[in-house]
Amino acid sequence: MKVYNSLSRRVEELTPLAGGEIRLYTCGPTVYNFAHIGNFRAYSFEDVLRRVIQFNGMKIRQVMNLTDVDDKTIRGANAAGVALCDYTKTYKDAFFADLKTLNIQPAEVYPAATDHIPEMIALVAKLMEKGVAYQSDDGSVYFKVREFPGYGKLAHIDFDHQQTGARCAADEYDKENVGDFALWKAWEPSDGPVGWDSPWGRGRPGWHIECSAMSMKYLGATFDLHTGGIDNLFPHHENEIAQAEAATGKPFVKTWMHCAHLKVNGEKMSKSAGNFFTLRDLTEKGYTGREIRYVLINAHYRTGLNFAFSALDDARKSLARIDECVGRVEAAAKGASAAGEPPEFAAKCLADFTAAVNDDLNLPSAFAALFDLVRQTNAHLAEVSDPAALLSVFRRMDEVLGVVFFGRAAAAEVPPEVQALVDARAAARAAKNWAESDRLRAEIAAAGWVVKDSRDGQSLSPAAQSR
Ligand code: AMP
Ligand code: ZN
Repeated sequence: MKVYNSLSRRVEELTPLAGGEIRLYTCGPTVYNFAHIGNFRAYSFEDVLRRVIQFNGMKIRQVMNLTDVDDKTIRGANAAGVALCDYTKTYKDAFFADLKTLNIQPAEVYPAATDHIPEMIALVAKLMEKGVAYQSDDGSVYFKVREFPGYGKLAHIDFDHQQTGARCAADEYDKENVGDFALWKAWEPSDGPVGWDSPWGRGRPGWHIECSAMSMKYLGATFDLHTGGIDNLFPHHENEIAQAEAATGKPFVKTWMHCAHLKVNGEKMSKSAGNFFTLRDLTEKGYTGREIRYVLINAHYRTGLNFAFSALDDARKSLARIDECVGRVEAAAKGASAAGEPPEFAAKCLADFTAAVNDDLNLPSAFAALFDLVRQTNAHLAEVSDPAALLSVFRRMDEVLGVVFFGRAAAAEVPPEVQALVDARAAARAAKNWAESDRLRAEIAAAGWVVKDSRDGQSLSPAAQSR
């Protein structure tokens, strides 16, 4: 499996540093609002990455942090007049629900920043000890950029160390404002009740130190892989490297990967630009998580992707084609398990698929291999001697894609107890007993089925189909 390393700027083989396991750190959400689908482009890319790692037989240990204290969360909590932890809990819960909707595999660990303040204080103390950090007159502690010779190696900034000495207190800034950055921020009245005691007085951690402390706690001083959206590359990831390597004297991360932005009319989708859709905005319009996932992963992660509703409509059609074909293969396989090899055309499609995902996660080519499989299956299913073996090729591809709906043939058989509810509902509707009809609809939904009403009566589909 080969991936593009933002640090070396080369495509390189990804092999575990130790123990057959890839240790992956992915910068998680700042939980001050509902994540938008631009954020979910990053998380879907990381999901595909972890799935391809496992597809190749490697183990994975993924840590995704939850930034629940920073400039934005404090501002939000204080403006709403609620405690920081209550404010962020709403968005943490929403985030995990959204991951499920998008069929994103859970990470192994989700550390929250506020649970790791002692680790962050210890790391800042270490940097003070090493002479690469200092406390300024305002009480905040800064990283002295000119004391770390490797500064700029990820962002490839050609900056003149002599010019620096300026300080930047904000968590986010651009390359023109390179300067000493905050490790620990002294308490200010606008922080309200948010603050922790430290050797440098009351305050709170800077955003960058959060990720260095939590990644090293769960993955060690040196680990395999670190990812995020391209906007994280500078200053966030650059600063993470500086903090970690200055403290430990060891290389921090071997491979860095960044996904390009999801855009709207050519501009980055972001909260600040106001041009965003949350996942909920789209599901309320009737799009399913599966359709949204399909759109997010169906472009190469390193190319910009312009969001358009027409892409979601196309996804619906493409998925229907896949479902239809898989349903036919399932019906032909009749629940049998594979006895032998898949047909030659399927083996060839799987080889193409494997080559594509292993070529720096080339998902457009991987989808092309899946559609080739659909096309050939539709043409040759009647001649296939072992449909179950063919089905296993679809399943193997879906280990990476996570968008195929299996179980359609089995799901088409309505269990008798569900049919009884549907019949009772038909009677209730005939008697114009709408309350009873609605109650029965809820009961049918609880049993995993969606009932829809039309002029011809009720139609039933398994709930998974509308996932
Ligand atoms: P944030 O909550 O702003 O810290 O962002 C969480 C993750 O989403 C980070 O990895 C960002 O780089 C990523 N991200 C933010 N906006 C976009 C976008 N429009 N397209 C792709 N990734 C994004
Ligand atoms: Zn981070």
